[in-house]
Amino acid sequence: MTTRIRPSVRALHAYTPGEQPAGEGVLKLNTNENPYPPSPRVAEALARFAADDLRTYPDPQCRELRERLAERHGCGPDQVVVGNGSDEILALCLRAFVRRDRAAGWFDPSYSLYPVLAAIEDLPARPVSLTEDFAWTDPDLGEADLFFVTHPNAPTSLEFPKARIADLADRFSGVLVVDEAYVDFAETDCLDLALSRDNVIVTRSFSKSWSLAGARLGYAVGPSELIGALFKIKDSYNVSRLAQTVGLAALSDPETFDARIAAIRSTRGTATDALRTRGFWVADSRTNFIWTRPPAPHRAQ
Ligand code: PMP
Repeated sequence: MTTRIRPSVRALHAYTPGEQPAGEGVLKLNTNENPYPPSPRVAEALARFAADDLRTYPDPQCRELRERLAERHGCGPDQVVVGNGSDEILALCLRAFVRRDRAAGWFDPSYSLYPVLAAIEDLPARPVSLTEDFAWTDPDLGEADLFFVTHPNAPTSLEFPKARIADLADRFSGVLVVDEAYVDFAETDCLDLALSRDNVIVTRSFSKSWSLAGARLGYAVGPSELIGALFKIKDSYNVSRLAQTVGLAALSDPETFDARIAAIRSTRGTATDALRTRGFWVADSRTNFIWTRPPAPHRAQ
């Protein structure tokens, strides 16, 4: 039978998004969302938003948002690119940095979207197994042009030693993408690596710590040369006016942000202790979710 669909797309095992339960009485957290609402300034900005502004396209450069993010991170706006969720940035990185005959790598287990994005691009995949207790193993990056490090990692909730990440960046001739979707709940971050190395990009998300998963907003910080390449290939209007508006409103209220993070860390500690008291094995989570195994004879399934 003939088909018009590319073989790699035909063979693709598509990413399965988390279940979207409907109805009342459900606090949806299964894609690691934030249980708290975004800053009240987000609601205020939406109330002020003029529907007529939707007639025209959004700022393709996301100038104001990039300026605020650059201030927050102590870098230039040319070192920041904003995307339709950090997922878009991850896909752009593969398209911008991996040559056709070269590979992309990541740790296993880590974010299950990476293999899907690589398969869509027809790129050879180089998953690198973590140790049995989900700790770092030095990857052999032979023919890889790009390696994703999820820090802290998902689904394990654990941080990697930052010195190992820095050392990997220094030994790697390709681009190291440090996916920091959960980093606001962690102890260490790799932003300084992205601002001091010519081959490190850090990606961040508004979906978890900023309570804005529904707005679809993420960004990358890194050397202006690499960020410029992502700019070159992104869709012109990849971030809607509404998303830019709510992102700016959220960033203008770091106090609410800090309070929500503190509340989630505190709940994480209480929940971890309660589960351990009941005999569960629980990883020392540095994220907004918990990686746990129930005591025998119970099974997680
Ligand atoms: N990276 C990791 C490790 C994630 O778990 C997620 C959320 N599923 C993302 C990136 C994507 O986040 P965003 O909503 O910003 O696209």
